[in-house]
Amino acid sequence: MKEQYTSTRRTKIVATLGPASSSPEKIEQLILAGMDVARLNFSHGEADDHRRRAQLVRSLSEKHGKYVAIMGDLQGPKIRIARFKNDKVVLQVGQPFTLSRTHPGDAGDETIVGIDYPSLVQDCHPGDELLLDDGRVVLQVDHVEEHEVHTIVTVGGPLSNNKGINRRGGGISAPSLTDKDREDIKLAAELEMDYVAVSFPRYGSDIQEARKLVQAAGSKAWIIAKIERAEAVADDRALDAIIKVSDGVMVARGDLGVEVGDARLVGIQKRIIQHARTHNKLVITATQMMESMISSPIPSRAEVSDVANAVLDYTDAVMLSAESASGQYPVEAVQAMARVCLGAEKEPTSTRSQHRLGETFSRCDETIALAAMYAANHFPGVKAIICLTESGHTPLIMSRIRSGVPIYCYTRHPGTQRRAAMFRGVYTVPFDAARIDPAVVSDQAIDQLKQRELVKKGDWVILTKGDFYSNSGGTNGMKILKVK
Ligand code: PGA
Ligand code: MN
Repeated sequence: MKEQYTSTRRTKIVATLGPASSSPEKIEQLILAGMDVARLNFSHGEADDHRRRAQLVRSLSEKHGKYVAIMGDLQGPKIRIARFKNDKVVLQVGQPFTLSRTHPGDAGDETIVGIDYPSLVQDCHPGDELLLDDGRVVLQVDHVEEHEVHTIVTVGGPLSNNKGINRRGGGISAPSLTDKDREDIKLAAELEMDYVAVSFPRYGSDIQEARKLVQAAGSKAWIIAKIERAEAVADDRALDAIIKVSDGVMVARGDLGVEVGDARLVGIQKRIIQHARTHNKLVITATQMMESMISSPIPSRAEVSDVANAVLDYTDAVMLSAESASGQYPVEAVQAMARVCLGAEKEPTSTRSQHRLGETFSRCDETIALAAMYAANHFPGVKAIICLTESGHTPLIMSRIRSGVPIYCYTRHPGTQRRAAMFRGVYTVPFDAARIDPAVVSDQAIDQLKQRELVKKGDWVILTKGDFYSNSGGTNGMKILKVK
């Protein structure tokens, strides 16, 4: 039972599972290396692949006494070209190239290829720039016909089957949830996934629609909005509108970088992290964080710097995509991330808070949570925060504040136990306060930490709870207790 707390790493690691990480051995190694959240990417693989992976994550994390959340990532309306006769072509700068909604799907060549998304034709105008394969190939729209977009190649190179298309500056009108996404939401519910990530949301209403579908499917998953469209970051109002209706956001740098241009990306990433935290939401920093580790056992200095900077900006989690899903070194990538997170967290700025001076709170539980953090950060003897919680909302709010004091999420709900794995600086302790005599709840809660050797006699502990243990959002009390 003890090993789950031996790491003091606060920043969490999301690892995408794929062909390189689906065997029981690999999944077990990823869990032991520090994977906190397993991402199942619905853009690849069949339902049964995801079923098998989800079951392995559950059984192997239980075997090791760890709490690992599962996040299902919906494919969304990613627009893709169809296929080429010979699987691949090489495009030359200056040549014409046509995207066609009527051309046979498997018969592309050097001059033309099919597209699976009919209204691309209406969305495109002369002068628009289309970026294929994350910007490796760029086409400029010359003119548009009823079924075809005629372009000139401005950045040439190899182009292979089913590569994605983005438009510079955004503005492609595809609705956020596809029929496939609706099916995958049912799968996420069946597998009791803890998070569902929504791809390419444009407005808050896309998230609200996803939430309705998730709830209708009987799932309690929290909703992560992937910020990857230019419209979503057009201004602070647009960004905040999406953040407010989500439980968390992902800085989805792959597609976002293509839409806004790589030069703007870093500043926007920092803004998204900061806005998410101010709104008491989770934030994941994703894509190409350890890209060279797809084929190298060690990261580059630039990658180390990228992960460390996200940690210093106080992201909840950093994410691996191809590195863990299809690379040669999935376990090493998690280990490298864990090491870099721990190192960056040693910087004092990572534990000192700005205390949200000048802000007002909107809820009682929020007020208690932030008062607890203020106390923890200013009373040097405090070694732990115990947060008795139903939904996990109170430890989430607490962990928005920079601190070096661990926050223990005490809950009886398996869903909340796993969900908290994503929160920065939060660790799960299974605990059913409703079944314990109220007179001894505090003592028993502290005993849990003593048994794990996380506190000792003379330490101070902060405990928060509600008068009624079955109410979510009911936290209304805080105690400061000395360990006996
Ligand atoms: P994806 O999302 O990996 O599903 O494309 C993340 C991103 O765009 O960065
Ligand atoms: Mn994406």
